[in-house]
Amino acid sequence: LLYNQVQDLKGAIRVYCRVRPFLPGQSNGPSTVDYIGENGDMMIVNPLKHGKDARRVFSFNKVFGTSVTQEQIYADTQSLIRSVLDGYNVCIFAYGQTGSGKTYTMSGPDLTTEETWGVNYRALRDLFHISKERAGSIKYEVFVQMIEIYNEQVRDLLVSDGSNRRLDIRNTSQLNGINVPDAFLVPVTCTQDVLDLMRIGQKNRAVGATALNERSSRSHSVLTVHVRGRELVSNSILRGCLHLVDLAGSERVDKSEAVGERLKEAQHINRSLSALGDVISALAQKSPHIPYRNSKLTQVLQDSLGGHAKTLMFVHINPELNAIGETLSTLKFAERVS
Ligand code: ADP
Ligand code: MG
Repeated sequence: LLYNQVQDLKGAIRVYCRVRPFLPGQSNGPSTVDYIGENGDMMIVNPLKHGKDARRVFSFNKVFGTSVTQEQIYADTQSLIRSVLDGYNVCIFAYGQTGSGKTYTMSGPDLTTEETWGVNYRALRDLFHISKERAGSIKYEVFVQMIEIYNEQVRDLLVSDGSNRRLDIRNTSQLNGINVPDAFLVPVTCTQDVLDLMRIGQKNRAVGATALNERSSRSHSVLTVHVRGRELVSNSILRGCLHLVDLAGSERVDKSEAVGERLKEAQHINRSLSALGDVISALAQKSPHIPYRNSKLTQVLQDSLGGHAKTLMFVHINPELNAIGETLSTLKFAERVS
């Protein structure tokens, strides 16, 4: 098998690391990322250590440096996303501390500039494009759901009745397995439909939060794309499902400082991110028991993690020196799951 065929095997977990550039107004280095190799290696320098102990190499499927564009990121994600149209379940995660670029990768910095659109929009645009190309042999329908998991409660981001209704995770034949069947399921046919939904979702995410960024860094948001294809000759039906997940910030909260709601949020986040790590590493080790039940996040995604599903984790790095602690713990998390 060729290397890229190996990478495309179902059940395999791919990890891509993306290094965020320094932002305008920040110092322009030095960076904790010393170099990025061609083959998915990167070297991290720890400014708090000296000599040999200061340097560490990490290896992933790919490492993207600060000048890599949204288009290039998508080019390396495209084949995975297209496999949804062949009936695969796919999960793509954005992991990293708050401010490391998760939302930039998944959504982009804003909705108005197509050039900086993230994976979410590009994925849907691509799915529409390919389904048109195949229209002579397969008739596809595409549906979207958008939920948020906050403090181990699932909320619909597409319903704006302000009720804050908690949704259940159940098994339904209609959506092909374990899912959130009561979340609004919206048919979409073009990227404009998707953009309209994203605006609604972003608005609803802000409800009840003191500041949008605050809330969005403490909840997992899951955009789910359901694809149903009917083969025109045989009339057989295929179904695929794509989960695009912008995870809560992975930073450790200082237990001596956090109190009340803040502490509760932090505990929920820590627990659900470790549950995710446990599930993915159990899958990678082909363990007979996969602990899906330990968090709402892994329950929602259960049918798209493992088995015939394909998983990609983007881990994000903030290159600033004072982020070194979180950078190392992010890379160790990524190493554990890959
Ligand atoms: P997170 O979602 O992880 O909290 P954001 O995606 O909001 O982080 O990114 C933090 C800031 O960095 C934002 O201002 C964002 O526009 C900027 N940023 C992140 N990644 C990149 C990138 N690859 N290129 C340019 N700016 C980026
Ligand atoms: Mg974000």
